[in-house]
Amino acid sequence: MVSPHTRDPVGVSLLGSTGSIGTSALRVFARHPQRFVPVALTANGRVDALAEQVATWKPSYVGVVSGEPPAGSGWHRGPDCLVEAATHPDAQVVLNAVVGAAGLHATLAALRAGRTVALANKETLVVAGEVVMATARTGGGTVVPVDSEHSAILQCLAGRRPEEVRRLIITASGGPFRTWPTARISDATVADALNHPTWRMGSKITIDSATLANKALEVIEAHHLFGVPYDRIEVVVHPQSIVHSFVEFIDGSVVAQLGVPSMELPILYALTHPERIADSGVPRYDPVAAGSLQFEPVRHDAFPTLTLGIEAGRAGGAAPAVFNAANEEAVAAFLQGALTFGQIPVRIASALEALADRPGRTLEELLEADAEARRHVQSRLSC
Ligand code: NAD
Ligand code: MG
Repeated sequence: MVSPHTRDPVGVSLLGSTGSIGTSALRVFARHPQRFVPVALTANGRVDALAEQVATWKPSYVGVVSGEPPAGSGWHRGPDCLVEAATHPDAQVVLNAVVGAAGLHATLAALRAGRTVALANKETLVVAGEVVMATARTGGGTVVPVDSEHSAILQCLAGRRPEEVRRLIITASGGPFRTWPTARISDATVADALNHPTWRMGSKITIDSATLANKALEVIEAHHLFGVPYDRIEVVVHPQSIVHSFVEFIDGSVVAQLGVPSMELPILYALTHPERIADSGVPRYDPVAAGSLQFEPVRHDAFPTLTLGIEAGRAGGAAPAVFNAANEEAVAAFLQGALTFGQIPVRIASALEALADRPGRTLEELLEADAEARRHVQSRLSC
């Protein structure tokens, strides 16, 4: 892991630099210029935003997946730029902030090259969790979570042995429809679903937070990161997003990590773990000012996508990859007005029913399941 006492700044390859996590990461680098330097930046489109970042940071590698690089810029173009940036010789850490399964190859390439991957791209672990963790072991790389819940669990687990852990309790804000009557949720508009109560994030994860698909992805992510079986991972709704998760130990003691909702702290922690350094830029937590913390059970009847995803995780094989791909396609269709909110879980369930028991041991099988699930959802959009 990266030592906080390292003299030279740590070279970071930042994949998805123009997104919500990407721009938060650049704020963290700006606060700690002696410690972190972005050596590679990549984005998909948003060439103007990327050009501004390049002018500020002058990374030695710039890649754009789609879109036209500025004339004479020397930027790399096309999907291969992710793997090239992830294996850049000056990058000790790869911060993968790409959205969706598109981030998988870069994570694997970085781990094969023995790098530390600060992973925001949770879809990497949902599509191919076993392959990814095995690649980390054989390649000598490490996966450190950026997701706030998993950062919390990592902090709660510090120094404990796996046999001492009884249960992980992952908190969920509940999203914008936490208190909506079940019957009304299926007719929610895109604007309703993008109106998240506690976090400002990219549109895909914001919709995932409204369906609670995000929590299913996080349960699967936690299973792979921490090696805890599904029957010992629970979800509780916590509307204030102050407690980022809990770990219960075998003696009954429960440890939680708290903080005001900001991704800059989990990003910084992923870069310094297991050490801490001063100044995450996050407002300090004042328990009195923050007031009371509420916890509620999940309304599984109102949010069927959560149950579908957790069941896919339990089933294993290709099922989580099918769940993830079907969800990505259904969310994209919802954002384009081609599906209603209520149709998202219906289309995911249809893909799982058709494809979940496909083989899913190798990377090739998982990628094939991913592609099949996308075709399954897309081919039914006009019906
Ligand atoms: P975003 O949509 O704001 O940004 C995504 C970034 O990835 C952009 O730079 C975009 O150009 C790039 N990108 C998009 N599609 C790509 C593709 N096909 N190939 C390569 N690059 C592509 O998303 P975000 O909210 O920053 O989320 C990024 C990841 O972090 C997601 O996996 C999300 O689940 C996870 N995450 C986000 C938050 C948050 O607060 N935003 C919190 C926890 C986890
Ligand atoms: Mg999260």
